[in-house]
Amino acid sequence: MDVGFIGLGIMGRPMADHLINAGHRLFLYDVKPVPDDLTSKGGTVCGSAKEVASKAEIVITMVPDTPHVEAALFGPEGVAKGLSEGKIVVDMSSIAPIETKRFAAEINKLGCDYLDAPVSGGEVGAKAASLTIMVGGPERAFEKVKPLFEKMGKNITLVGGNGDGQTTKVANQIIVALNIQAVAEALLFAARAGADPAKVRQALMGGFAGSKVLEIHGERMIKRTFDPGFRIELHQKDLNLALQGARALNIALPNTATAQQLFSACAAQGGSQWDHSGLVRILETMSGFEIGQTPPGSGDD
Ligand code: NAD
Repeated sequence: MDVGFIGLGIMGRPMADHLINAGHRLFLYDVKPVPDDLTSKGGTVCGSAKEVASKAEIVITMVPDTPHVEAALFGPEGVAKGLSEGKIVVDMSSIAPIETKRFAAEINKLGCDYLDAPVSGGEVGAKAASLTIMVGGPERAFEKVKPLFEKMGKNITLVGGNGDGQTTKVANQIIVALNIQAVAEALLFAARAGADPAKVRQALMGGFAGSKVLEIHGERMIKRTFDPGFRIELHQKDLNLALQGARALNIALPNTATAQQLFSACAAQGGSQWDHSGLVRILETMSGFEIGQTPPGSGDD
């Protein structure tokens, strides 16, 4: 297929790479220079999102936030200017469900289908083509795009209509944030109590407390590797969507609010570019103890 890919950052680059490796013709655009490895494999660089849409049948966007998707789709040189009837726009970024419905309606007016298809699994999942993909939109478009999704991910679900994919992703981000908070508190507790946090993580992994977050981010917390990965500023964006949504829906998400405050405290300490597992650092600051330190008093008894 002729596929357009807009946004070739941490996630987009390996995702586009899998599509090229699968034999699709890729038309690429980013506001930054397109990575050389994609062009050397045969990807075509375009000068605008409009050019991508005029050349490809299916146009994928993977950019940071709602305003970036809006710019890529409806800017002066945007996707909408290059579309013709029957093409499909697939937004794989994590953005606002409500704005997504508006974007879909605008694209539908041009005779094109729209899928919101945000992902979970992070950089590791993008590189391993094992992303979870949660999709909203019409089934006919989903069936056409599914072979592409299958090259980028494993657990692929059509959840419902436009916006439902993004709603699912917000729910995902609530679970991940609270899980990071739980793992960070548990490992901090164990380390301060004098247990080896690496052994504690290992012991817990097979039980009811086991999770991907314990496995991957627990290891990051122990090994102190906080390069992104998934930037705290992006998780703040997702929890804002959750908290704004909760307000509009008149429901309470108290623990999501706490996690957001902890991310804000990280950002205030210069950590907006840390990986989101870096949330542990603010808990450590609050407790005056870092995982990996020797607890005071140990060895005296
Ligand atoms: P990133 O910042 O690394 O990459 C985004 C890319 O989009 C950049 O290269 C940027 O130059 C480009 N871009 C921005 N505006 C553009 C525009 N108008 N036109 C063309 N290109 C534009 O971000 P990322 O980590 O790859 O995340 C992308 C999306 O995926 C976000 O919505 C994020 O929440 C989501 N996501 C990220 C992860 C992760 O672990 N990094 C995991 C799941 C979901």
